[in-house]
Amino acid sequence: MGYQSVSNELVHLTENEAIGFLRQESGFATKAIHSGYRPEQLLCRSIVAPIYMSTSVSSASLSQNDNKGNELQNTENPTRIILEQTLAALDNGKYALVFPSGTAGQSCLMAMLKAGDSILCGNNIYTGTIELFRETGVDIGLEVDFVDMTKPDEVRKALKSNTKMVWVETPSNPMMLITDIKTIADIVHKESNAIVVVDNTPSSCYFQRPLDFGADVVSYSITKFMNGHNDVVMGSISTNSKELYEKIKFTQQITGIWPSPFDCALVIRSLKTLALRMERHSLNALLIAKFLEHHSRVSGVLHPALATHPQHKLALSQCYGHGGSLCFYIKDAKLDETKRFLKHLKVFMWADSLGGCESLAQAPLLWFVVPTSFSDEEVHDLGFLENLIRLSCGLEDPEILIEDLNQALNAL
Ligand SMILES: *Cc1c(COP(=O)(O)O)cnc(C)c1O
Repeated sequence: MGYQSVSNELVHLTENEAIGFLRQESGFATKAIHSGYRPEQLLCRSIVAPIYMSTSVSSASLSQNDNKGNELQNTENPTRIILEQTLAALDNGKYALVFPSGTAGQSCLMAMLKAGDSILCGNNIYTGTIELFRETGVDIGLEVDFVDMTKPDEVRKALKSNTKMVWVETPSNPMMLITDIKTIADIVHKESNAIVVVDNTPSSCYFQRPLDFGADVVSYSITKFMNGHNDVVMGSISTNSKELYEKIKFTQQITGIWPSPFDCALVIRSLKTLALRMERHSLNALLIAKFLEHHSRVSGVLHPALATHPQHKLALSQCYGHGGSLCFYIKDAKLDETKRFLKHLKVFMWADSLGGCESLAQAPLLWFVVPTSFSDEEVHDLGFLENLIRLSCGLEDPEILIEDLNQALNAL
């Protein structure tokens, strides 16, 4: 069977399955283009927001803030504010802040905690986050506990009197496990004083809006789908809580971590096409997942929109669709064969990261995504095997991506 016929069959299945997700309300694409900036704001009436390179603003123009003039000189940049307003609107939030990387935003959230406080963290999430908490967090006196976030009862039992932050990533990266955001937020708010942070990088705010389900803070690596062009490193947080916003902003100010106005302008531009891009990422990933499911050299595909995903129904109940990542296992492959598969790819690039126009493939075991602080047994139990491949499906033609995977698998 050639890829063309496989692909036609898959498009049909996609339409059936897409109905299962929550329905997007109208308005997202318009907000992405208009909510941060209108030409009436400026004398020159440019339809696109300008890049303000200025490192300082005149105290004279900030009458309400005269007493804080010095602080504002360093911390306020109009281009950044336009981006923050857009990001807040897209998450159905009141406030957003941007950082020079996703990790910088996470570090800032961690820096709000005090020695003796505890973080309860999902055990199957982006490795950089695990390492940040387990290495730097522990060094500065924080306690860090890991739990299977897909099991609400275990989360309830793991809460301690000093738990101040619960860290959720759903779908998790790279294993695609789903955490029930509303159930976890309800348990945490009822039984502790902790805040619930959801790392929403894998879905972007187009496909999932955790504040609507009770999360206190949403964290993003903007580097991924939100910027989506593999050319900016940035992070952000969104929240509805004025108190949390002010606390995070204060920590940001005293630690001095902001992105450049130029990068902010690039992301303002990227967000205007977020809805379009995510639809295509999602379609490509689903077509590819369906193709791989039927391939004789593949022994398993991890993608929440597939009916075979153990948490398929839960996934559909809290998001509007699925981003461009998925994982699969090459049947019976050892690491050497996994590497050979990656070398055979011609369109997919053998590289880390996700969320850009370019499709990427990587074997988590060849890369740092396996937490160095986890034992071999823990790593194995989490599903990180030698034959695991993670794909970030970009925006190329789906039939060309499918053919690329097909020829690389068949060459093994
Ligand atoms: C990439 C990533 C991060 C870190 O973001 P950077 O912008 O690379 O610092 C955090 N969380 C998730 C889920 C990621 O994929």
